[in-house]
Amino acid sequence: MSRHIALIGYPLGHSISPLFQQAALDHYQLNVRYEAWEIEPAQLENTVELLRHPTNLGANVTIPYKEAVLPLLDQLEELASHIGAVNTIVNREGKLIGYNTDALAFLQALREDGGFEPEGKRALLLGAGGVARAAGFILTRAGVKTIIIVNRTLKRAETLASSLREREPGIEVITLPWEGPELEEALSHCHLVVNCTSIGMKHSPAEEESPLKDRSLPKDVLVYDLVYNPVETPLLREARKSGARTLGGIAMLVYQGAAAFELWTHRQAPLDIMLKAAREALG
Ligand code: NAP
Repeated sequence: MSRHIALIGYPLGHSISPLFQQAALDHYQLNVRYEAWEIEPAQLENTVELLRHPTNLGANVTIPYKEAVLPLLDQLEELASHIGAVNTIVNREGKLIGYNTDALAFLQALREDGGFEPEGKRALLLGAGGVARAAGFILTRAGVKTIIIVNRTLKRAETLASSLREREPGIEVITLPWEGPELEEALSHCHLVVNCTSIGMKHSPAEEESPLKDRSLPKDVLVYDLVYNPVETPLLREARKSGARTLGGIAMLVYQGAAAFELWTHRQAPLDIMLKAAREALG
């Protein structure tokens, strides 16, 4: 009997997870289909209930439901509970366990693909949404010295800053508005800039835009854009031109998917196959 893994979100038209997850499942010739379940908020509760059926191995959860699914699950692993967001659900004999594989994938890509060790460094996060929470939490755990959070809605940056300070009181956490000279000053002193906004993402209202347009970057900074479509975003293009090192979002995307694959199937994720399928999907 065929089994299923779902991707739960809205909208899902541009997600490439079905392509690289199916490539990994097919590599092991598992009789499992990875399916996009694009659902409206009113359907969320019933949809999550469906995951308890024995033919369903679990799900990935994406925008806008990573926080909304929490109360619908039976158990949360430690990282998901600390971050307050779930991107992977595993069905264990009818019991639904929530995981967050984004945070460790963010760190793995930063270290392995970006060659960057965060301990003792100054990191500047652009954005304060779901993925900024995961990035901020794991960076504080990895021992950064300072985190600067810049967000269009300053209140949201302050909420994230308070929860990071509460968790790691020894770390300096600063919030800044997008406009004004403080951002220029902060940029000139940081070692890592992470774009956690959707600015520059294909099919978004801010497609073709850079979150740091007309700002100067220090040469020795690493610019890490979590947006993965297009592969080279306007921010990465600008950063490269100014001599900074760059890292795109595709490695993190594949690593979070690989960790989820291992939780559902108990098999080692075929990383090369997943990466190749993701790159092909993005042209
Ligand atoms: P989210 O919770 O909706 O947060 C979106 C963030 O972007 C907020 O900080 C928002 O600011 C900001 N933003 C959006 N449009 C903006 C604009 N025009 N000007 C200024 N700020 C703007 O989304 P998320 O889940 O954190 O995801 C953010 C991005 O990360 C998406 O592009 C997603 O694809 C990417 N991502 C990548 C990976 C990966 O594996 N590579 C994983 C997860 C997410 P406000 O608070 O002011 O609204």
